[in-house]
Amino acid sequence: MLDLNFRNKNGVLHIGGVSVESLAYKYKTPLYVYDQKLLKKTAEAFKENFKSNQFNTEIVYATKAFSNLYVLGLLNTYGFSFDCVSYGEMSVCLKAGIRAENIHFHGNNKTYDELSFAVDHHVGLIIIDSSDEYSLLNEILTDKKKQVDVLLRINPDVKTDTHQFIQTSNADSKFGVNIRDDNTKKLIKNLIENENMNLLGFHAHIGSQVKDLSFFEEEAKVMIQFTKKIQEEFSYRFTSLNLGGGFGCKENFDDDDLDLERLLRNYISIIESLVDDYGLDLTDIGIEPGRSMVGMSGSTLYRVGSIKKTLQGHPIVFVDGGMSDNIRVSLYDAKYSAFIANKMDCDKKKKYRVGGKLCESGDFLIKEEELAIPERDDLLLIPFSGAYTYAMSSNYNKLVRPAVVFVEDGKDFLAVKRQDIEHLIENDLYYKQDV
Ligand SMILES: *Cc1c(COP(=O)(O)O)cnc(C)c1O
Repeated sequence: MLDLNFRNKNGVLHIGGVSVESLAYKYKTPLYVYDQKLLKKTAEAFKENFKSNQFNTEIVYATKAFSNLYVLGLLNTYGFSFDCVSYGEMSVCLKAGIRAENIHFHGNNKTYDELSFAVDHHVGLIIIDSSDEYSLLNEILTDKKKQVDVLLRINPDVKTDTHQFIQTSNADSKFGVNIRDDNTKKLIKNLIENENMNLLGFHAHIGSQVKDLSFFEEEAKVMIQFTKKIQEEFSYRFTSLNLGGGFGCKENFDDDDLDLERLLRNYISIIESLVDDYGLDLTDIGIEPGRSMVGMSGSTLYRVGSIKKTLQGHPIVFVDGGMSDNIRVSLYDAKYSAFIANKMDCDKKKKYRVGGKLCESGDFLIKEEELAIPERDDLLLIPFSGAYTYAMSSNYNKLVRPAVVFVEDGKDFLAVKRQDIEHLIENDLYYKQDV
């Protein structure tokens, strides 16, 4: 089982053997705290459970979920590949020591400069999103007299049951080319005939925070059927299939424990039988976990400030961060849990709303939570907040971005320093009156 290394010592939470009081003192709050042992176990779980004797498997970490030199360096030791969607994401991966051949370049609007950069640096795989992008890449490859391996992103039209902002597979989606679109075949024909691009196969990604394996089963089936159909129609052999990410991840204490290991083992056996049934000789099957790799092991630690009651009677406890370090609550109604991390033994509890300090009415972190009666300067922890939080953080209201620290076996490792005021103005220029 993948569990957090949380311990209560004399009423104070310790993560990976380190007290949150000492972390808050050393690194200030808000603070992203990652349970390094759990992250390593999660990475191991992907590696050990998504494997097959029938074909090679590839774990591609979706770096957009949480990317910095430290975490990329850590995940790189597992032999993963890395999914990037911008010049920035590719550059950070390269700086982290990831080999270009292990980078997969994704995105629905890759620019001329980004594609040129990817080609110049010999990025391992480019995932083509549209006919327009195909033409642009072809132009670049012709100019540079270079070749690349590509996949084509197919929208398999598999509906999921998650929030519409994190669904990617429907007839109106902005991602990929639709499986039912007549133009898709023309593009495949062009790709097969193109000398500059080596089409290895197809890619699909159905959305995010999908917890029910049946959606992935449906996706795998649709994509394997499709691969088979196209293979016969064009007498062309495909070697690869990437089924994307989107595996769900526990986000609060009420969420069911998700047995990731079992899900991955079941998924691989489903894929194996489908590949068998359709008589495909695929050599490489990939998945692209983001959230499920880093979500559970990360927590956000805040300091409690003011406490007030609205006229309607709702008690609110305010913390020293909010939508600037975790926008997921206001953006898509994500539901987290919280507790007072320095009052773990306190039985007296009351319901509070947890609000942030930013100037937006929507700036709440939790609608309602039973908390040990909070007082100013207490520490409040939001667990399971490791994915798409730091990654989507901002300097709104000129709040500085928090530090990121990893903890394991009583030791802490600073991964990202807290910003200071200099960072807020480093690109600013002064107004000069007499020019
Ligand atoms: C975002 C994304 C992922 C990762 O999704 P998670 O829900 O974080 O696992 C994988 N592949 C593609 C193409 C994506 O856009």
